[in-house]
Parts: sequence; C-alpha cells; structure tokens
Amino acid sequence: MKVYLDNGATTMVDVNVAKVVQHYMTNDYGNAGSIHQFGESAKDALEKARNTIAKSLNANATEIIFTSGGTESDNIAIRGVLKATGKKHIITSRFEHHAVLKTCEALEKKGYKVTYLGIDKEGFVNLKHLEDAITKDTALVSIIHANNEVGTIQDLKKIGEICRNHDTYFHTDAVQSYTKVPIDTKKIKVDLISLSAHKIHGPKGIGALYVRKGIKIKNIFDGGEQEFGLRPGTENVAGAVGFAKAVELAKTGNMEWLRDRLIDGILKEIPDTFLNGSRGNRLCNNANITFKYVEGEAIVLHLSAKGIAVSTGSACTSHSLKPSHVLTAMGLKPEDAHGSIRFTLSRFTTPVEISYTIKALKEVITNLRRISPFGK
Ligand SMILES: *Cc1c(COP(=O)(O)O)cnc(C)c1O
Repeated sequence: MKVYLDNGATTMVDVNVAKVVQHYMTNDYGNAGSIHQFGESAKDALEKARNTIAKSLNANATEIIFTSGGTESDNIAIRGVLKATGKKHIITSRFEHHAVLKTCEALEKKGYKVTYLGIDKEGFVNLKHLEDAITKDTALVSIIHANNEVGTIQDLKKIGEICRNHDTYFHTDAVQSYTKVPIDTKKIKVDLISLSAHKIHGPKGIGALYVRKGIKIKNIFDGGEQEFGLRPGTENVAGAVGFAKAVELAKTGNMEWLRDRLIDGILKEIPDTFLNGSRGNRLCNNANITFKYVEGEAIVLHLSAKGIAVSTGSACTSHSLKPSHVLTAMGLKPEDAHGSIRFTLSRFTTPVEISYTIKALKEVITNLRRISPFGK
C-alpha cells in the first residue's frame, strides 16, 4: 500500500489540471506579449486565470501578479515594500517559513532592523507584543497565515486591524492555508498575500502575490513590463491556467474528519505522544505529533519502508540535523522536537489509508522504542 501524507511539502497534480497545462504547452503556446493570434489566446487564458485567483480572494484582477511560487512572492512582498517605502524595520515571527525568515535574516545583514515576535505554546503570535513592536519606521509586518509545520491558523483580521491602525503594511504567507481557510480581502485588512499552486494540486513553479491597490511596492528584478512591472519575465501561461484550474477544483472534503481520526487514533493507541499546535484553530489537513523517546528521522524511514510518506518538520529542513525552529519557538525541548512528525492530508486521502497509517505507526514506534538510546 502507498500512502502519501506529505501534502504540506507538495501535492499530486490533479489530472484535470495536468490536461489544461498540457494544452497551453503544446497548443496555445504563444507568448502572452505577442500581438498575433497565438499571443492573443495566451493573453486571454492568462487574464482568465488571474480573474479566478482574484475572485477566490474577493480581490480585483489588477491586484494579482503571477510569480514562480511562494518563495518568490514572499521575497517580492518584503523586499519590494522596503524598496518603495524606504523604511528600515520589519516585524515577523520566529515561526515563519524559511522563505520569509531567511529573507529577513539576509536583510538584517544589509542593515535593516527585524523584530522576531515570539509565539505561545500553541503557535499564536501575541497581539500585544505585535502592537508594541510597531514604530514609525516599520515598513511591514509579515506573519504566516497557517503554519506549514504545525498548522496553527493566525487571526488575520485582528493582525490586519492592528497594522492598519498603526499605518504599516501587513503581508501574510498563505501558501498552506489557501483554499482551505477563506480570505476575503474586502473584509480583512491584509495588503499582500503569498500563494503557491503546488500545495493545492497545481503545478510546481507557479504562484501569485496579492498586492492591495495603492500600496507602495517596487519591482525587485529588472526586465520587461509583465505583471504590472512587478514581475518581469515571459509569463508562465500554462502554469497560471493550471493554478487557476487547481483553485476551481479545490475542496476540503473529508480532510478535517480524517485528520481528527488520525490524531485521536495515534494519541489513543500509542503512549507517550502529544499533539503540537492548536487543536481548535488548526489547518484541516495537518497533524503534528511528538513521539517521545524516538528520532523523527527513524520514524520517517521506517514508515517509508511500509509505503507511507510523512515528514519531520518542513521539507526544507528535513535534511538538516537542527531541531525544527517552529517547534523550538513553541517551547518544545530539543529532544521532543526531534521526535516530531508532520502528517499532511489531501482531498484524496482515504479512511483506509488513515487506519493503515495508525497500525503501521504502532508497530514502528514500539520497535524503535525497544532499541531507543533514550532508555525507555
Ligand atoms: C511551500 C511553502 C512556501 C514555498 O513555496 P514555493 O512555491 O515552493 O516556493 C512558502 N511558504 C509556505 C508556508 C510554504 O508551505
């Protein structure tokens, strides 16, 4: 049996997405900037895709720019706003995706000031600390919507209000939450939103950035006039159309119910385990569990031998031996952080797969604890 529970790292491309992508690669393959018919049909498709993404956020089409993915969107948002405003201060959290965290660290080396807000043990940012950290020189606040490791969902509405009241921009990385937790840009005071297709059964290498009309932002790459000048380069029309198709097909289905079965099953069947992140405000497809007295890497490899794909922390850090910065920011002891596994479901996950995973885990954990160097 093959069970893919690493949808937080990437997802299977939906066959219906693959079909439209293929069409725009092999039939309507023109450059959207050309004025002949090939160019016209590519341009039409691109603008339809832009409309679909805009509608999903209750935004206007001119507020959506296509990028190569979440990482690029985060970089354009943060660096582009700093460049346009001339301000020198950024506020973020200790629990961001590396696309934001490493960008902020790089900017610090260039002389920018960064405030890293702490988070509580469930993964929520303290709003009072946020408010206290904002100064006249704060260009933007960047807080992840749903964390990619533990799935905790922040209150965008409240954060947005604080930012607006203090005259600073609010950027959120919504790559994990997109199409799972609705965002209405007419109701929530968020100015920039990063999105990516490959976490929602779209192709890799295409994403988008929502840029609220009227905000100050400059291009960080130089080139052509594409994407309102904010993201020069020939548009990835096939990718954009595939992304839009993935948005149209997105639904949460059984994910939340299966996630709860997985969490409850593990906590009940396997002793010395606990859930990381909030139980109530949690992404519908995320379960992050600590298995005490065992190494996460060992669990991943033993489950893999049984056909089950899961991960320790995020894909970006799973090759390093450092404990997850997210779990340690939440106050986990390093040894507990090392024994933590992220399970991320998709709309294709079945009840049989969940039962099989719980059973396999029980065997793997029992065996690993028998040979554990931690003496349990
Ligand atoms: C995957 C991910 C990214 C990176 O997106 P890419 O499209 O792979 O560049 C950024 N932020 C979060 C929260 C993610 O989960």
